[in-house]
Amino acid sequence: MSKGDAVVYWMRMQDMRVQDNRALSQASSEAVQLGIPLIALFILSPQDYIAHDRSARRVDFTLRNLTCIKQSLGSKHIPLHVVTHSPRKTLPERVLSILKSWNAVRLFANIEHEVDELRRDIRVFELAKTEGMVQCNFVHDKCIIVPGTVRTKEGKGYTVYSPFLRAWLPHLTDHPDPLACAADVQPNQVSVHDHHVFGRLFNTSVPDRIEGFELIDEDADTMRECFPAGEDAAHDVLRRFLHTKARSSQAGAVSPLSSGVIEAKDSSRDSRIGKYKDMRDRVDLDSTSRLSPYLAAGVISSRACVRATMELSKNKAQKIDASRETGIGRWVQELAWRDFYTHVLALFPRVSMGRPFQEKFANVSWETNEEHLQAWKEGRTGVPIVDAGMRQANKMGWMHNRVRMITAMYLVKDLMIDWRLGEKYYMETLIDGDLASNNGGWQWSASTGVDPVPYFRIFNPYTQSKKADPTGDYIRYFVPELSKVFGDDIHNPPAKLAQKLGYPLPFVRHDEARQRAIRRYKNPGDE
Ligand code: FAD
Repeated sequence: MSKGDAVVYWMRMQDMRVQDNRALSQASSEAVQLGIPLIALFILSPQDYIAHDRSARRVDFTLRNLTCIKQSLGSKHIPLHVVTHSPRKTLPERVLSILKSWNAVRLFANIEHEVDELRRDIRVFELAKTEGMVQCNFVHDKCIIVPGTVRTKEGKGYTVYSPFLRAWLPHLTDHPDPLACAADVQPNQVSVHDHHVFGRLFNTSVPDRIEGFELIDEDADTMRECFPAGEDAAHDVLRRFLHTKARSSQAGAVSPLSSGVIEAKDSSRDSRIGKYKDMRDRVDLDSTSRLSPYLAAGVISSRACVRATMELSKNKAQKIDASRETGIGRWVQELAWRDFYTHVLALFPRVSMGRPFQEKFANVSWETNEEHLQAWKEGRTGVPIVDAGMRQANKMGWMHNRVRMITAMYLVKDLMIDWRLGEKYYMETLIDGDLASNNGGWQWSASTGVDPVPYFRIFNPYTQSKKADPTGDYIRYFVPELSKVFGDDIHNPPAKLAQKLGYPLPFVRHDEARQRAIRRYKNPGDE
């Protein structure tokens, strides 16, 4: 193979960072070793976004992050070239033709575990092999451990979270240092040919919108306020979660729209992570990190999150263990859920193809009720905690985990509507849409997935509401019709009061709906 003119790092929607990025790090070392420039490539593929139900918010977040990355890479003399490509099925050919035009010899990319993306990469690999020009290197980067590497004694992939966690925890110390991006090719080191290519690439811009995925101005402003783009912003969100104090409800409810900006500097004992073990299910407080948009887009690595917690635990003598006795330990175990669902997707790809993991529930009899589905989407079901959750999703593109579970369970078990319709709506609405975690969460709630809640254990939304939002602040914030309702009524307003306030009445009675769900799950196919 000739020395060639460039090494290429192909950045994807899930690894949008310069720091601690495996493919970029390897590409940069290779470029330095070969003494040729490194070029970063990003391909916007609107047809893929449609196929994966990507929300306009997620696409907008991608574009905003690309702008930051272009700057960071630029400061290292690495150009970022962004192209838009359609149709999706010719994307591999397009990649090869771009690589050829740069006379590239190496391609590096982080693996995406979705089936379509794996097929695409295999095609790129085959084309490159046929042409004998570019050596392709697809590497694992999304998780703490490579999907599929931890196995049961029988050599099978884990389908239960707890044993997976036990196998996963010893790997927390595998990544003591961030992966460096070494390449820093000065323009005078670049050949005449490269100079021309380089100049052109540095001057290409990142589009600020993609047709079909535009946000209205108000929404765009909210997204920018709640989820600012860039690695610095992501590390800031993490730092605040680890080091700043959680506000109690007495101190005044934190605006659910805040991105976690609360008073600075406090001892870790009172920090939000310190309280995470006890408070993480409180939706009326800023109780969780709100890092999910950054983790889903790879703006920060999960390794960086683990390293930061280990640093903290070293300082504050809090141990990361499986005992769930500390806030830090409990939070790290949430990161393990993210890994777990990616492992499931990689090992059982059928879950991402509309199939239940537990095939015995493939024929559960669902209601087809457009009115109920629409009311659920819009937050008009007459169940305040469900409506608050859905309105939060619609307004800010993000939801607290507990409300995701409550709203998902309500759609599936109370309204008896197919979980796949809910899964799709979340992807279309949330800024942190991630196929593996979203599918995992929905199949958990629908009792069809790996390690799910048993089908007969059905959340009572009113009891859940009292536990998750004991102050009622969350409901009052997102459901203004109820802004003057206090006490237990906020969780289940009496019919007369609801009517007076113009708030809808529930479509179903929970106890009856519960019996219906149990009947249908027990005998799939029965009406
Ligand atoms: P924290 O509590 O601070 O947790 C830290 C990180 O751990 C999260 O950012 C996330 O990356 C990971 N994590 C936490 N809980 C889970 C979990 N149950 N499953 C997988 N990873 C987890 N998460 C997504 O990132 N994208 C999704 O599309 C998504 N869809 C979901 C759908 C349903 C029905 C359910 C029940 C859960 C879904 N989750 C999803 C998981 C979880 O709700 C969010 O990750 C979490 O609410 C994000 O808030 P946070 O960053 O403050 O979380």
